[in-house]
Amino acid sequence: MKKAIFPGSFDPITNGHYDIIKRGASLFDEIIVAIGVNAEKKYMYTLEERKRFIEEAFKDEPKVKVITYKGLTIDLCQKEKADFILRGLRNPADFEFEKAIAHTNRSLSKIETVFLLTSARTSYISSSIVRDVLRNGGDITKLVPPSVMNKK
Ligand code: ADP
Repeated sequence: MKKAIFPGSFDPITNGHYDIIKRGASLFDEIIVAIGVNAEKKYMYTLEERKRFIEEAFKDEPKVKVITYKGLTIDLCQKEKADFILRGLRNPADFEFEKAIAHTNRSLSKIETVFLLTSARTSYISSSIVRDVLRNGGDITKLVPPSVMNKK
């Protein structure tokens, strides 16, 4: 069984993340979306909200599971028996950043990181842009899955 962990903050999940998870689900038997908990970081949405947005967005996709975690992603991979980490690439900055993390993870474990190139129509989307638009009263409908818009 080929399992991949897709780690991130997902504050909130965007159409960019959604696209990578959907495409990842066609390559792997299971995608575990893992929301990292970092006590030092301030989030716009609570952990419960971030988890619920992703669960709702993938309620009809049995291959996608959502969990939260603290600590190293490679330790989580071991715990979940996942041999792969899935990441998305948008631009050269993502590549440089991801390259360092992937090499580090590879030096500490046997975990392979698999990269999917962002789709053209979601390549410009990031959670930080979504938060900026929201803070300034803008409309994020086109940037995020409906579950984020349906916040209760
Ligand atoms: P982090 O908090 O680690 O930056 P994010 O939640 O922003 O994590 O992103 C998690 C993963 O999703 C990363 O691999 C990131 O490159 C990828 N990602 C984010 N936005 C997009 C997008 N628009 N297209 C493709 N991948 C994306």
